[in-house]
Amino acid sequence: MRRPQDIDDIVALVCRDMQRHIGRGRVADYIPALARIDPRQFGIAVALIDGRAAAAGDADTAFSVQSISKVFTLTLALEKLGDGLWKRVGREPSGSAFNSIVQLESERGIPRNPLINAGALVVADALLGEGGPEGAIAAIVGLLRRLAGDARVSIDEEVAASEGETGFRNASLANFLRASGNLRGAVADGLQVYVHQCALSMNCRQLARAGLYLANQGVDPLSGAEVTTPLRARRINAIMMTCGHYDASGDFAFRVGLPGKSGVGGGILAIAPRHGAVAVWSPGLSPQGSSLVGVLALQRLASLTGWSVF
Ligand code: GLN
Repeated sequence: MRRPQDIDDIVALVCRDMQRHIGRGRVADYIPALARIDPRQFGIAVALIDGRAAAAGDADTAFSVQSISKVFTLTLALEKLGDGLWKRVGREPSGSAFNSIVQLESERGIPRNPLINAGALVVADALLGEGGPEGAIAAIVGLLRRLAGDARVSIDEEVAASEGETGFRNASLANFLRASGNLRGAVADGLQVYVHQCALSMNCRQLARAGLYLANQGVDPLSGAEVTTPLRARRINAIMMTCGHYDASGDFAFRVGLPGKSGVGGGILAIAPRHGAVAVWSPGLSPQGSSLVGVLALQRLASLTGWSVF
């Protein structure tokens, strides 16, 4: 078979190859508003740092980004606190489920990394300032709108409310963090920021565009804006590589070989440093909470493009 040269051809081929897998996995039914999503959907979008873009399938359908948002809140918190953030959260892979409670207690309230829920709650708390949770949420939405170059990016309030009402494990983690002195603000405020960032609604095209700064040493190549420093961009990629899929991070590195971040909405953002950013979406999940078809698609894309950090 001819090796496709053009990114449009590659993306179309990946989308065609995924058709026989679509519908695999289980949607995240522990968040009631996500339990209703039709698993038979698949979208893919690639944004390249030279400005080219390609998309296929349901790339224009908005979905709940969930934990993918943790990459962007980490970026904001590092800009706000600098290296001081690392006193409150570690940077080791957890090898545990994203919402593990037992690990947090054994490590005395310092979460293993900023991409598990406990770590992301610390990051959400760090973003609280004079404007309270509303100010922090507005800063997060503002960043994603600028990065996506699209003012339509917004929060799905139904998803936020649904998780707010049923997120008892996250409430437990937040309370334990507060008891350990690792939340500065009110438990309710940190949780409010967290459920709203998770409820950001974006499509694959917007998400791939938003991740481009991580492929380009912290600078958004399309607007020229310095989102973060080159060193921080490199470190965020390292954390995505080692921690982005929780207890499936090793398998993702093995299959795809690129930094990535999953969300239980079925999206995955992957970064190909110096090339571009990729967003895939398909709602059926593996037991560890990564999109089953999304991982297969990224594996196929990496093999067709040759993109790898190894
Ligand atoms: N909002 C989800 C939760 O806290 C995010 C989990 C995820 O996407 N991995 O459970």
